[in-house]
Amino acid sequence: MKYLYQFDPSSKKFECPKCHQKRFVRYVDAKNRYLHEDFGKCDRLKCGCYRPPNKKHFALENNNIEFIPVKPKTPSYITSSVMNASLKSYETNALYIYLIKHFSKSEVIDAFKKYKLGTSKKWNGSTVFWQIDFNNKIRSGKMYQCWLVHPLKFCGNSLIRS
Ligand SMILES: [Zn+2]
Repeated sequence: MKYLYQFDPSSKKFECPKCHQKRFVRYVDAKNRYLHEDFGKCDRLKCGCYRPPNKKHFALENNNIEFIPVKPKTPSYITSSVMNASLKSYETNALYIYLIKHFSKSEVIDAFKKYKLGTSKKWNGSTVFWQIDFNNKIRSGKMYQCWLVHPLKFCGNSLIRS
C-alpha cells in the first residue's frame, strides 16, 4: 500500500518541539489525518525546526505502510517549433503595422526578434507574446489583438497553452 503525505494545508499550528512556540505545521495524509506529532516543520525562519517523516519510524508505527510524498505538478511546455513558426508574417501583424508608422522596419523587426514576438492567424494577425522561463522553456503564449489607433489599445487577449 502506498501512502501520501503533505503539510497540513489548514492554518492550524502546534507547539514546536524546538522553540516551543505555536508555529509547528504538522503533516497530514491523503485523507487529511495528522501524521505522528513528531513530523512537521516550524514556520519560524529563526527556529528552522524541520522533521520530515522518517521512513523507518513511520513504517514501524504504521505496520510497514510505505509512504511517498505528494509530487508537485510538473509544468507543461510548448515546443520551440510552434513558437518559431509564429515568428513571421509580420506584414499582417497589427502591432508591427502600428509600429512601422513610428519606427523604421529594421528597428521594429529587431525588437520583434529580440522579444520573440509572434504572429497568430487568429483575429487576423494578433501578436503573440511568448512566456519563456529561465531554462529557455516556453510556458505559454499570450495573444493580443490591437487596434490601429492612438493610443495603442488592446481589445482582447487569449492564452496559448501546450
Ligand atoms: Zn520552532
